[in-house]
Amino acid sequence: MLKLIDHIVRISARRDRTEINTALVEAMADIFAPASLCVYRCFSSASTTIVFACAGIDHDGVFSRNAYLPERRFSWPITQDKLLRQAKKTGSVVTEKLSNGSQRLAFPVNAANQLIYLVDVVISENFPPEKRVLLMGLIEYFTHHIALLDYGETDTLTGLANRKTFDKHLFEVMGKAANDELSSMVSGQQRRKANGNDRHWLAVCDIDHFKHINDNHGHLIGDEVLVMFGRLMRESFRYDDQLFRFGGEEFVAVLQPAKQTNVHAVFERFRTAVEAHVFSRVGHVTVSIGYSQLLLNDTPADVIDRADEALYYAKQHGRNQSACFETLVNTGKLRPQSSEKGEIELF
Ligand code: GH3
Ligand code: MG
Ligand code: MG
Repeated sequence: MLKLIDHIVRISARRDRTEINTALVEAMADIFAPASLCVYRCFSSASTTIVFACAGIDHDGVFSRNAYLPERRFSWPITQDKLLRQAKKTGSVVTEKLSNGSQRLAFPVNAANQLIYLVDVVISENFPPEKRVLLMGLIEYFTHHIALLDYGETDTLTGLANRKTFDKHLFEVMGKAANDELSSMVSGQQRRKANGNDRHWLAVCDIDHFKHINDNHGHLIGDEVLVMFGRLMRESFRYDDQLFRFGGEEFVAVLQPAKQTNVHAVFERFRTAVEAHVFSRVGHVTVSIGYSQLLLNDTPADVIDRADEALYYAKQHGRNQSACFETLVNTGKLRPQSSEKGEIELF
């Protein structure tokens, strides 16, 4: 019991998803030694839920991955696993007896009616009943802690990540990008060039003439547009792209590494999805998008400033369009206002 309290104190002291997961897995390994354990972070859209195996215990021992940056090789649709699907559907713990007599339990974690995590644990046939109660209690505690953290990181109107979490997310992305770059150099792969290939991209998306919507239809209808806009955004981007509501009618997307031409297609797809949507009581709404690639020595403010300059250009040139900062500079259409820094060389 003392051991359990000690672990609960350690979990409760953490505010970072990856650290909380690690603390849970360590507690589970130490107290219960389950046959296997997996903590999934879940990414839901209207059409699908993707589960990302971010921490757990498998045949190789304990593992923990950055919970903020889902990796495609450890992510799959929930439809591939019957028990997880069932946990999502029922919204409460579900169990399954395995052929070797052990028992599998799947605990869903919901926040604002969305499935945000799943805890999947396998215990042996002769797992003592009193320990079972403790295990259920510990997982329940974890689910409440995660739901609370999620609440603090989410914009209540749209369900996207809020402004407060943006800097943290961006530092995670930048840290990983620098690591990837370093390891590709160490492993002798071809050096990535600063030509727009294989870099993360950041876009600022700002609804056009939103003030007119508020003025003509009222603030509540304006809010409904924001909710729908957030939904369209989630449907247009991939689960592993990070989406934020940045301010009133301003949104930010941080995209996984991609080539400039592909990125342009993604933003155009989103822009046209907004343009084509008929917003209830308001009709058609458009969005202007400015985007730029993330550089290794950027601060969050640097990349936001460049994307903002491209956005300003889009607003000045007719709105309802997406504009790339690098293209505008290269074609002489924009003289950058933000201080241009060179790339930091790692060696
Ligand atoms: P532009 O095309 O240049 O972006 O014009 P705009 O009218 O969208 O831009 P502006 O920045 O002048 O106005 C943004 C408006 O967004 C002003 C403010 O009243 C409104 N707004 C900010 N936050 C909220 C919110 O949470 N809900 C609603 N309904 N409106 C908001
Ligand atoms: Mg606007
Ligand atoms: Mg604005």
